[in-house]
Amino acid sequence: MAKRLIMMTAALLAAPLFLFVLLWALFSWRPDSSGWPQWPASDSAEAGALSVTWLGTSTLLISDGVTDLMTDAYFSRASRLSVMTQDLAPDDERIDAMLRQYQIDGLDAVLVVHSHFDHAMDSPAVAMRTGAELVGSESTANVGRGAGMAESAIRVVVPGEAMRYADFEVIFLLSDHVPQAAWLDRLTGMNEPISEPLSPPAPVSAWKEGESYALLIRHPQGNILIQGSAGFVDGQLDGYQADLAFVSSVGLSRQRDGYVADYVRNTVTASGAPKVVPIHWDDFFLPWQAENTPAMPLIMEDLEGSFRLLSDEVGAAGAEFVVLPPGQTIYLRKDEQHP
Ligand SMILES: [Zn+2]
Repeated sequence: MAKRLIMMTAALLAAPLFLFVLLWALFSWRPDSSGWPQWPASDSAEAGALSVTWLGTSTLLISDGVTDLMTDAYFSRASRLSVMTQDLAPDDERIDAMLRQYQIDGLDAVLVVHSHFDHAMDSPAVAMRTGAELVGSESTANVGRGAGMAESAIRVVVPGEAMRYADFEVIFLLSDHVPQAAWLDRLTGMNEPISEPLSPPAPVSAWKEGESYALLIRHPQGNILIQGSAGFVDGQLDGYQADLAFVSSVGLSRQRDGYVADYVRNTVTASGAPKVVPIHWDDFFLPWQAENTPAMPLIMEDLEGSFRLLSDEVGAAGAEFVVLPPGQTIYLRKDEQHP
């Protein structure tokens, strides 16, 4: 009897430990992106070229040396546990550290492609620190208002209408979010607007999707397409050309047959971009580690599967699939691209 009691107690004690170890193992098992074709490292800035630096998720810093734009500024990188159990707010220390590390002191615009927390939450804080305009949907505008931004520093976009920032022309085109599980749709307010000013801290569900856009950034040195979530609307890019495409890859391996072909047709093929860089595949629940930011754990995202599907379709479209290590800068120059 006593022996049985001891064994039952031991089993009861061991079960949570076993579960903990299992969860830890599942969340530590990560694919590695380094086996994929990598963008060659350029060690020095090229005068007159357009520079693009990927800073994790769909955060891109784009500059021609005079005008500086940023997409989806997200630096807080709140942990999985805090996203699920706590109210969220921008992490001032992490935002300041990133702005310091990448010497970002002035921006002209922060462009937000949809209003989920990993795209919109930090964008007002970054815009306010850098004197930038916050640009996006009415939902993103409400994130800006809730953060205390002046109305004069917020711009609500009209899809298809070009906005000028010196030599840059920025166009938001109506697009869609990557399809995801129904419970995640409910948690993240898919297809729902943020209809009132949103003041953090707030639960993750407060940052609803709003509208999702494909973003086209045109410049004399080259045109860039940014698809910050792996969704699309048929014909979204009709009539628009790009020299380089940054496309979100996360979630592609979980879609219906033919989805990735349709996705590539509406982004890469439609824009004619000869080079395609996947974004949003880093584990944004972990702190930033330049050049070394790990991919999502396999239990959340099959990076190999998504990259394989995407790179096959990109190849079939006659374009090149290249991985840009986080924190590395690409230089784009029109005369070199089209000799
Ligand atoms: Zn999203």
